[in-house]
Amino acid sequence: MSMTDERYLRITAGVPRLGDDRLREILRVHFGLTAGGLRPLAGETDQNVRVTDTSGAEYVLKVCPAGDLGAVRFQNALLRQLADHAPELPVPRVVDALAGQDGVVAVPGAPDLVARLLTWLPGTPLAEAGARSAELLTDIGETAGKLAAATVCWRHPEPPAPHYWEFPHAATVLAEALPAVVDPELRAAIALIEAEFVPLLVRLPELPRGVVHHDLNAFNLLVGAGPRRRVAGVIDFGDAQYTARIADLAILCASVMRGQSAPLRVAATLVGAYHRVCPLTESEVDLLYPMLAVRAATVAATAARLDAAGEHGDPRHRSPAAAELVRLLATTPAELGAATLRHACGLPVQAVDWLATHQIEPVLDGQLKPIDLSASSAVFDDADPRDPVALRAAAASAIHATRPAVAVGRYGEPRFTGGGTVSTGVELFADPGVQVSAPLAGTAERCPPGVDLLLRHEPAEGVRFWTVYTGLSTSVSLGDEVTAGQRVGALGQYSQLLVRLATVPVSGWREVPAEVPHADAPVWQALLPDPTPLLGARHAVTAWQPSTGRTLEGRRKHLPHTHPTYFSAPITMVRAKDCRFYDENGRGYLDALNNVTLLGHGHPRLVDAATRQLRRLNTNSRFVYEVLTEYAEALTATLPDGLDVVYFLNSGSEANDLALRMARYLSGREDVVIIDDAYHGYTTTVADVSPSRYKHYGKPDTTHPTPVPDRYRGEYGYDDPEAGAKYARHVTGTFDRLVGEGRPPAAFLYEGLLAGGGQIVLPPGYLAPIHAEARRHRAFTIADEVQVGFGRLGEAFWGFQTQGVLPDFVTMGKAMGNGFPVAALVTTREISEAFDRTGRFFSTYGGNPVACAVGMELLRVLDEERLQDNALTVGQYLRDRLAALAGRHELIGDVRGQGFYSGVEFVLDRATKEPAAAETLIICERLKEEGVLVYPTGPAWNILKLKPPLTFTSAHADELVSALDRVLEAGW
Ligand code: PMP
Repeated sequence: MSMTDERYLRITAGVPRLGDDRLREILRVHFGLTAGGLRPLAGETDQNVRVTDTSGAEYVLKVCPAGDLGAVRFQNALLRQLADHAPELPVPRVVDALAGQDGVVAVPGAPDLVARLLTWLPGTPLAEAGARSAELLTDIGETAGKLAAATVCWRHPEPPAPHYWEFPHAATVLAEALPAVVDPELRAAIALIEAEFVPLLVRLPELPRGVVHHDLNAFNLLVGAGPRRRVAGVIDFGDAQYTARIADLAILCASVMRGQSAPLRVAATLVGAYHRVCPLTESEVDLLYPMLAVRAATVAATAARLDAAGEHGDPRHRSPAAAELVRLLATTPAELGAATLRHACGLPVQAVDWLATHQIEPVLDGQLKPIDLSASSAVFDDADPRDPVALRAAAASAIHATRPAVAVGRYGEPRFTGGGTVSTGVELFADPGVQVSAPLAGTAERCPPGVDLLLRHEPAEGVRFWTVYTGLSTSVSLGDEVTAGQRVGALGQYSQLLVRLATVPVSGWREVPAEVPHADAPVWQALLPDPTPLLGARHAVTAWQPSTGRTLEGRRKHLPHTHPTYFSAPITMVRAKDCRFYDENGRGYLDALNNVTLLGHGHPRLVDAATRQLRRLNTNSRFVYEVLTEYAEALTATLPDGLDVVYFLNSGSEANDLALRMARYLSGREDVVIIDDAYHGYTTTVADVSPSRYKHYGKPDTTHPTPVPDRYRGEYGYDDPEAGAKYARHVTGTFDRLVGEGRPPAAFLYEGLLAGGGQIVLPPGYLAPIHAEARRHRAFTIADEVQVGFGRLGEAFWGFQTQGVLPDFVTMGKAMGNGFPVAALVTTREISEAFDRTGRFFSTYGGNPVACAVGMELLRVLDEERLQDNALTVGQYLRDRLAALAGRHELIGDVRGQGFYSGVEFVLDRATKEPAAAETLIICERLKEEGVLVYPTGPAWNILKLKPPLTFTSAHADELVSALDRVLEAGW
């Protein structure tokens, strides 16, 4: 017998225990069913059995004492009401008996028992279903709201007797259980909830009433499978009651919040969703937080009491998470809880309008000067954003430089020194001893920890707020009255005064946070609003404002509307270092997307090389300067002998454009053979050989796409050792066809690993026969290394080298300057000289000294830091870890790549390989929320492109894989 079964036996001691033969008899006689399988299920009062009939249909047979007849009739009637009035709700259906009132039947030979049959609902209890997405939580809240809406007007002549643990009895339940709670911290937390919230329950009888499920917990909610999982069942209506309607929501929140990292946000999602389906009254919303706290305390206290009494009760409620939630709720300011739920329902939260329209005395004399301590501030330009000590030092020195003016850290600013947490007050940086005044008349209240002075102000009838001072040396004592402008103290030894405003009493709080997480800022800003008016009107200080809205508006006005942005809510990036980006909120993001930044963002040696060269000389290549020659030598040294002549350009498009122009001129032909789904650039010529572009306007007659050698989806799979040669035949066949048609090709243009084509690793033996045939037909070969060159593929410095071929032209860009525009076309002297007849070649910016200095330094760093080796080993490590994820997540169809160029292909069905395009975009959006940047690619947009800087470490790879795992587990 398994542990679960033993536990089940303990829970169900005392419930009816009919043998299988008797159960089969009930099913046959009363329901006309022949049971195939019978499996016992847990139940606190009923004997519950899962029944499979011979047709495979599934049911739950419930047997209980005849004394419960009224209660089971009530439950059946309730389920029928739900079936009629909310047929979309996944609740069990009552199975009609052949003869028997309300589907409740007598048990043959056992007059003390009755039975009934319900349909079985498949699904996993929410409590056991792993991480929860916001969409699932929303569905749960909506389901609860729909349940309430469907039963609110329903009444039954025989409602069940009240249960001892209902909200009106909470005081008794807690008082009885409290002495049995052994853990002193938990006991104190429960006592606090009892004292603070239980008295509020007197308001319960005034709230709307209805019949509720009354045990809507994470074990009675079933969820479906897969990443897009939703509520699949609401079961166990055994505790249903006619009572305050919001009892269900409070019970639901208290259960679903357990074990979650941000439980208040969970409650906000549930309550907001419920409210949209079944609008709550303001009184209900205001009692909800106290009720959910009381419910959480009751569950934890009852579990402790049963433990102490040697009874075990329902073990599901005895999880450490239940006690943990109680501790958390006891330390959360009640005002925050209440405001969070009001905010979730769109109800107004406290505000201080009075200050905006009245004169007050400034708290500090002297000249005030706002200082920008957000991630966008120049203050941090010379600090490594990954180093908190360096950030604080940079902020300190900037603050110091503001003297004699008083630097003011703005309200609502995401402080970069705090990792992007949002400031709840204004910070004033001045010398110790600088005098501080009361802005208005007020009374000193007891200070919470970390606060030096708390003044209550009631400047007008019905207007009340508090000013909160930290970092103040004060002699004002509890109960003292102060007048407007009165000196209340001086700046303390830390030279830093934090002034906040509160719309709610904070005396009893454990802490008034100086900074709060970004996600919680809107609610906090209602409780601790902008205190900037306390500084006086004459200073040009304002609260921090995000720039994203304004910046996007400007883009919409001045950029083409087809210009893309990443993500549905685009990110305003303000800086980056190595593999980490930072947005204007100071939030860091792992960069797994950026193939351009080969050496990582802001590599100090490149920054130095560029700035030094900019200061020294920047001109054009008609002048002679050493760095160009040096760079041309170093660059061609990375290429096979013969590829010696460099045309310096500015972009990948230019390089491909020039290669095609040369190939066409030298061959006297026009036709170009390419690989399908490719992208080679934006100029007219290269857009015409880029299927991802010309599909929007029509394929030019001279362009000849050949099948993508995709061993995952294509004609020849990974298991075919001849796949390379077979795919190559499509290309050489195209050559032959064109020759046959009297229009032999000018060139074959390809990438060493297909980027836009879907991160496709070329099959071994693919390029060699193509090159041989191209040569035979005197067609030029062009290797587009814009994406994959410079060691990214790990195995070789250039993509074409992984196939052992030698192209006529190599085009490069992107990574070449680590983000600084540097591009080139490299070819042989022979080809170059043949092209010389078309006149001279010159590009104004191509090969400028700064570009050459940057490119040169990049080659040095690449070599010295052995980054190609890193791409090989960490790239493989990343793919191994991703491949291991495929065992846990059906959505992953294929993991492939070379070095630091990998693709994860998502499919809806591994057999049909139907692309999971919508899912891939959602996954990217969710990864962004997790702080990891990747983006979809491929013809169907169902492939994650992973092409991080070559400095990506195995720790970064772990971070990426764990985030993907979390996203896929939680779903959407
Ligand atoms: N070739 C390939 C393979 C590319 O991916 C790109 C850019 N995505 C280009 C050429 C064009 O480069 P650029 O944007 O620098 O003009």
